Amino acid sequence: MPDLPREPRADARPPAPRVTAVGDRCWVVRLTLPDLNLDLNLGVVAGRDGVILVDSGPTEPLAAAVLDSVAALQVGPVTHVVNTHAHWDHVLGNAAVRARHPACAVLAHEETAASLRDHVHTFQAGVGEAGSPYAGSAHLADLRSAGILPADTSFSSVHVVDLGDRVVELVHPGRGHTAGDVVVHVPDAAVLFAGDLVEQAAPPSYGEDCWPLEWATALDVVVGTLPPGAVVVPGHGDVVDRDFVQRQRDAVGVVSATIRDLAGQGVRPEDALTAGDWPYPVEQLADAVRRGYEHLPRGARRLPLA
Ligand SMILES: [Zn+2]
Repeated sequence: MPDLPREPRADARPPAPRVTAVGDRCWVVRLTLPDLNLDLNLGVVAGRDGVILVDSGPTEPLAAAVLDSVAALQVGPVTHVVNTHAHWDHVLGNAAVRARHPACAVLAHEETAASLRDHVHTFQAGVGEAGSPYAGSAHLADLRSAGILPADTSFSSVHVVDLGDRVVELVHPGRGHTAGDVVVHVPDAAVLFAGDLVEQAAPPSYGEDCWPLEWATALDVVVGTLPPGAVVVPGHGDVVDRDFVQRQRDAVGVVSATIRDLAGQGVRPEDALTAGDWPYPVEQLADAVRRGYEHLPRGARRLPLA
């Protein structure tokens, strides 16, 4: 029997980023990377005097591929890159964007700017270790070697970028997925890039740096900025609408309320996952419970009854 041609690894040559228009001069750039378990959205907002790239992707070569896609839009050079938060899959392309567009400003919430170096160092130190989900990735060398470029412009609440014929609002609606979440709102197009405060491809990601008791309040602010008919681009997955964000707000609100209820009843944190009635699979809520208990004021926790 003749040798069959061997199929290349799925990610040996990643598919080109998929670019979709979601509003007037607003695009989603989607990277589907099964090898990294990622279905990631970046964003592009173009104006007369500049172009904003929302997040920079998980490696420098992938960021370069995204920049090729942006160049094909023929809207001019990237003038701003916004990091919606400090997680590696959203920031490891920063240096590649700066290399291609040296005048480009990097913007983020001040918590994201301050924590980015530590966050990426920790990720890069562990990414190749046995047990890491990325140890066998075709992108491993690129994950490890990506340069670290924290934001050079940071803000605590709101920052407005003037693109000449339109303004774009960068808003920190509060803590949720991380302490430094930022959404990118394009009011004249009714488009909002939500980072990982909103996720469509999977339940919202509660990681070791999440703020589970405050997430719903942050999403209240997001919903409050959205007109009916707005397009919301989540950090991962398909584009959604305001109703979807409202439903996710309600579910993360249930997570928060359940943590408060259980703690108030004296349920110990190690028992909370089995004691609660959760809106998401419990195996994804360990950090939510741990962090939620830590963030509760002392008076909201009762000692277990002997
Ligand atoms: Zn994230």
